[in-house]
Amino acid sequence: MIPVVKPFLPPMEEYQDILKGVWARQWLTNMGPLATELEEKLKDRLSVSNLLFVTNGTVALQMAIKALDLKGEVITTPFSFVATTSTIVWEGCKPVFVDIEPTTLTIDASKIEEAITENTVAILATHVYGNPCDVEAIDNIAKKHNLKVIYDGAHAFGVEYKGRSIFEYGDISTCSLHATKLYHSIEGGFIVTKDKDLNTKLQRIRNFGIAGFDTFSDLGLNGKNSEMHAAMGIVNLKYIDAIHTKRKLLYETYTEGLKGFAAVQPVWREGATMNYPYFPLVLESEELLLNVREALAKEDIHLRRYFYPSLASALPYLPKQLLENTEDIAKRAVCLPFYYDLEEEEINRIVSVIINV
Ligand SMILES: *Cc1c(COP(=O)(O)O)cnc(C)c1O
Repeated sequence: MIPVVKPFLPPMEEYQDILKGVWARQWLTNMGPLATELEEKLKDRLSVSNLLFVTNGTVALQMAIKALDLKGEVITTPFSFVATTSTIVWEGCKPVFVDIEPTTLTIDASKIEEAITENTVAILATHVYGNPCDVEAIDNIAKKHNLKVIYDGAHAFGVEYKGRSIFEYGDISTCSLHATKLYHSIEGGFIVTKDKDLNTKLQRIRNFGIAGFDTFSDLGLNGKNSEMHAAMGIVNLKYIDAIHTKRKLLYETYTEGLKGFAAVQPVWREGATMNYPYFPLVLESEELLLNVREALAKEDIHLRRYFYPSLASALPYLPKQLLENTEDIAKRAVCLPFYYDLEEEEINRIVSVIINV
């Protein structure tokens, strides 16, 4: 069987080794030494000034919305994982969907202004498959209309845009460190902001809104993560360069093998580095996609329709809205099997099944 993803696992002894310290200290959670060490290592690796390790990428988004005090309409993308939209609703705001660019698959910045009303308070957009949004255009619109900007960078670990970490754009960026992501801490996530005061506020929100001894300053939640999760993050970070190299090789093997096949890859934003979190393709038609899926399934090879269906038309708690590019792309987009342990030979097998279709 070839699944769509398999989580990366480091040698078990390395994980056990680091856990010995946890047993010795008996400090399991609440901003423990490993959680702090992971934050320092990630800040260093990503060259960002503030970073908070949290429970997961979904809670990271909720905390971002709360910390910016958003109340009203949030302009967002319908082509993302459901958490991008559900957190907006969960925090009592109203998502307003703007269609995507058919090339980069990120929110179409040229359509944002027409969606702004007197109730608009923010833009929350996703760097789709690690491909950055048009951060400059979004920044200009946000400045002009006095809006906050949050980026869902769940896919964007390690991406740089114009020589800076992609997480440094916007008011707040979030990332997921879920087991299925390119780099993970089993469950986990982090929040980046350049603003020191906002970072302090997020720190309090992460810890129930407690400001100090016997005092509360904010409406908080429990966004802390454990030493066991931090330990996995620390050990996995040692392998991040090897992970990157392998994924790049796999990506190139697919690209080479699928030359001439009736599908296109998303157009990568100029000035951005690639981090290879997925191998996405937009096929010529939905019919072709379904045929490819069936042929692969016969060989016990799995693909994922990611993202499908459109968040603007599929959520039972929101009115159904059909956005042209998103509806079209979501029907034709797939991610092929892509993970560290995947072998080049397996890719060749997958490619030949697809080409035969
Ligand atoms: C994975 C993902 C999330 C959610 O992250 P969790 O850590 O699973 O909560 C949010 N947004 C996008 C785009 C994702 O891919």
